[in-house]
Amino acid sequence: MEAITIIGGGIAGLALAAGLDPERFDVTLYEQRPGLPPVESSLAMWPEAQSALAVLGILPDIRKAGARFGGMALRDGAGNAWVAPEVRGVLGVSRAELMRLLDAAVPQAVHRVTERVEHIPATGPLATGLLVGADGVNSVVRQAFWGSRAEATLTPYLALRGVLPESVDASAGGEYWGRGTIFGIAPASGGRTYWYASFRAEEGPARVDVAEVLRHARERFADGAPAIRTVLESATPESSLAQRIWTVPLLTSYVRPGAVLAGDAAHGMTPNLGRGACEALVDAVTLAELLDTQSVPEALKAYNSQRLARTQLLRLASSGMTRLALADRGQPLRDRLLRLATRKSPAAAVGRS
Ligand SMILES: Cc1cc2nc3c(=O)[nH]c(=O)nc-3n(C[C@H](O)[C@H](O)[C@H](O)COP(=O)(O)OP(=O)(O)OC[C@H]3O[C@@H](n4cnc5c(N)ncnc54)[C@H](O)[C@@H]3O)c2cc1C
Repeated sequence: MEAITIIGGGIAGLALAAGLDPERFDVTLYEQRPGLPPVESSLAMWPEAQSALAVLGILPDIRKAGARFGGMALRDGAGNAWVAPEVRGVLGVSRAELMRLLDAAVPQAVHRVTERVEHIPATGPLATGLLVGADGVNSVVRQAFWGSRAEATLTPYLALRGVLPESVDASAGGEYWGRGTIFGIAPASGGRTYWYASFRAEEGPARVDVAEVLRHARERFADGAPAIRTVLESATPESSLAQRIWTVPLLTSYVRPGAVLAGDAAHGMTPNLGRGACEALVDAVTLAELLDTQSVPEALKAYNSQRLARTQLLRLASSGMTRLALADRGQPLRDRLLRLATRKSPAAAVGRS
């Protein structure tokens, strides 16, 4: 049996461990976190990611638990809708539920190690066989094999998000682009509401005080749309998550001799397209299928050619979207242009969005 060691049991690592053939590979999965993430959040699952979940056999359960996105309006900071495209085929999925289902799909034969890998030694079990970096944006595998030029970059932005137990008026749903701020309100599983906010912040990067950020957000959005204020009044520090946003610089290959990257470790991007977890799932399922059916060198070559260009393009597109959505001084011009574009040709604007 060939040895595969996966560092990171998040979405990418669990999906890869679930997809690898246990008859062919001796798989070890390292995850530093002892259980599921304690605070609930939600993820938009695009159709490609749902196809990956179907390969792993868990799509029916995800569909049962997921919330359908209806109209997700794009709005100005005051709540006026520029466009309200019909979003088809996207599911709002509980991150905890997704992780639970992925975890349950991992074969018993996979060795689980609950421990943080601090560095990659030159000898020993971690240096034997194929090492997979599925360890997120600050990957130790990327650091060891790609060097300091591939270190994660801290953006000036912070993300705050949470799930409210009640549903918010459907007419308030969508994404609000203010001056240097974004606020999102979307349906979540079980009739709940997922909300998120992003803006420039000094807090962090290491430990971010959620209560402090929530206070900061209430101040930032004090003049915002009524729906935003309602959501922020209901949000509590215990049901919210706050973190600084990191990205991974341009990589020209996800493969090095003895190592391969998947998910955020390969292409950590800003969250503005809602694609990171989706692409992590597609990476993992693609890599597992290739490794299960080809020699390891052939599989890695094919994985690189199938996944590199697409995910790097998405990474760039997401950064562009962040600059547009979080425009600060350019916000009045952006709003004027958006108003003009959507007024002149609503159909074209819906198509573009
Ligand atoms: C605010 C926000 C909203 C988002 N919304 C969406 C969305 O709607 N849709 C979407 O598709 N994506 C979304 N994303 C992106 C998504 O969260 C990530 O792309 C996804 O979590 C990446 O999964 P991953 O498994 O590659 O990495 P991670 O989720 O970061 O998992 C890495 C795992 O590795 C473990 N680990 C790390 N280092 C080590 C180590 N040294 N040793 C052992 N274990 C280690 C960690 O504990 C973690 O469990 C969002 C991100 C943010 C910040």
